[in-house]
Amino acid sequence: MPGSRRVCAEAGCPTLVEAGARGGRCLDHRRQVERERGSATARGYDYTHTQLSKRMRAEAVGMTCHLCGDRMAADQDLALDHTGDRSGYRGVVHLSCNARDGALRGNAQRLR
Ligand SMILES: [Zn+2]
Ligand SMILES: [Zn+2]
Repeated sequence: MPGSRRVCAEAGCPTLVEAGARGGRCLDHRRQVERERGSATARGYDYTHTQLSKRMRAEAVGMTCHLCGDRMAADQDLALDHTGDRSGYRGVVHLSCNARDGALRGNAQRLR
Protein backbone atom coordinates (compact mmCIF):
# COMPACT_ATOMS: atom_id res chain seq x y z
CA MET A 1 0.00 0.00 0.00
CA PRO A 2 1.59 3.31 -1.07
CA GLY A 3 1.64 6.36 1.24
CA SER A 4 -1.87 7.22 2.37
CA ARG A 5 -3.57 10.06 0.56
CA ARG A 6 -6.67 12.09 1.23
CA VAL A 7 -8.49 14.86 -0.55
CA CYS A 8 -7.42 18.49 -0.22
CA ALA A 9 -8.67 20.20 2.95
CA GLU A 10 -10.07 23.06 0.87
CA ALA A 11 -13.84 22.57 0.63
CA GLY A 12 -14.92 21.20 -2.74
CA CYS A 13 -11.38 20.49 -4.01
CA PRO A 14 -11.10 16.84 -5.15
CA THR A 15 -7.29 16.80 -5.52
CA LEU A 16 -5.57 14.01 -3.58
CA VAL A 17 -2.71 15.08 -1.32
CA GLU A 18 -0.15 13.16 0.75
CA ALA A 19 -1.46 12.64 4.28
CA GLY A 20 1.53 14.56 5.66
CA ALA A 21 1.08 17.61 3.41
CA ARG A 22 1.20 20.95 5.19
CA GLY A 23 -2.32 22.10 6.04
CA GLY A 24 -3.67 19.02 4.22
CA ARG A 25 -4.04 21.08 1.05
CA CYS A 26 -3.03 20.45 -2.54
CA LEU A 27 -0.20 22.51 -4.03
CA ASP A 28 -2.55 25.04 -5.61
CA HIS A 29 -4.46 25.67 -2.40
CA ARG A 30 -1.29 25.78 -0.31
CA ARG A 31 -0.03 28.52 -2.64
CA GLN A 32 -3.36 30.32 -2.39
CA VAL A 33 -3.28 30.27 1.42
CA GLU A 34 0.28 31.60 1.43
CA ARG A 35 -0.57 34.31 -1.06
CA GLU A 36 -3.52 35.46 1.03
CA ARG A 37 -1.44 35.47 4.18
CA GLY A 38 1.35 37.36 2.45
CA SER A 39 -0.86 40.10 1.08
CA ALA A 40 -2.66 40.54 4.41
CA THR A 41 0.66 40.97 6.21
CA ALA A 42 1.94 43.35 3.57
CA ARG A 43 -1.05 45.60 4.09
CA GLY A 44 -0.35 45.69 7.83
CA TYR A 45 -3.48 43.78 8.78
CA ASP A 46 -2.02 40.64 10.27
CA TYR A 47 -3.40 38.87 13.32
CA THR A 48 -1.47 40.99 15.84
CA HIS A 49 -2.66 44.18 14.22
CA THR A 50 -6.26 42.99 14.35
CA GLN A 51 -6.03 42.21 18.07
CA LEU A 52 -4.22 45.46 18.84
CA SER A 53 -6.56 47.63 16.84
CA LYS A 54 -9.60 46.05 18.49
CA ARG A 55 -8.24 46.84 21.94
CA MET A 56 -7.05 50.33 21.05
CA ARG A 57 -10.36 51.26 19.44
CA ALA A 58 -12.24 50.10 22.53
CA GLU A 59 -10.00 52.26 24.73
CA ALA A 60 -10.27 55.26 22.39
CA VAL A 61 -14.01 55.81 22.86
CA GLY A 62 -14.47 59.19 24.55
CA MET A 63 -10.99 60.33 23.62
CA THR A 64 -10.28 63.08 21.09
CA CYS A 65 -9.42 62.35 17.48
CA HIS A 66 -6.16 64.22 16.89
CA LEU A 67 -6.98 64.74 13.22
CA CYS A 68 -10.30 66.60 13.63
CA GLY A 69 -10.45 67.34 17.38
CA ASP A 70 -13.86 65.71 17.89
CA ARG A 71 -14.58 63.02 20.44
CA MET A 72 -14.78 59.43 19.26
CA ALA A 73 -17.97 57.53 20.03
CA ALA A 74 -18.55 53.80 20.24
CA ASP A 75 -20.95 53.89 17.30
CA GLN A 76 -18.46 55.58 15.00
CA ASP A 77 -16.00 53.75 12.74
CA LEU A 78 -12.55 54.16 14.22
CA ALA A 79 -9.14 53.31 12.82
CA LEU A 80 -5.55 53.12 13.99
CA ASP A 81 -3.48 55.99 12.66
CA HIS A 82 -0.12 54.61 11.48
CA THR A 83 3.04 56.67 11.45
CA GLY A 84 4.21 57.56 7.96
CA ASP A 85 6.64 54.63 7.76
CA ARG A 86 4.10 52.24 9.36
CA SER A 87 6.52 51.37 12.17
CA GLY A 88 4.06 52.40 14.88
CA TYR A 89 0.76 54.03 15.76
CA ARG A 90 0.08 57.65 16.53
CA GLY A 91 -3.25 56.85 18.07
CA VAL A 92 -6.83 56.08 17.22
CA VAL A 93 -8.77 58.37 14.89
CA HIS A 94 -12.07 58.38 13.02
CA LEU A 95 -11.97 56.05 10.04
CA SER A 96 -13.06 58.93 7.78
CA CYS A 97 -10.32 61.22 9.15
CA ASN A 98 -7.76 58.45 8.67
CA ALA A 99 -8.82 57.94 5.06
CA ARG A 100 -8.58 61.68 4.37
CA ASP A 101 -5.19 61.91 6.07
CA GLY A 102 -3.92 58.88 4.15
CA ALA A 103 -5.02 60.42 0.87
CA LEU A 104 -3.22 63.67 1.71
CA ARG A 105 -0.08 61.76 2.63
CA GLY A 106 -0.31 59.74 -0.57
CA ASN A 107 -0.50 62.96 -2.59
CA ALA A 108 2.49 64.40 -0.77
CA GLN A 109 4.51 61.29 -1.51
CA ARG A 110 3.57 61.39 -5.19
CA LEU A 111 4.67 65.02 -5.43
CA ARG A 112 8.13 64.27 -4.06
ZN1 LIG B 1 -6.99 21.94 -3.33
ZN1 LIG C 1 -11.71 62.70 13.49
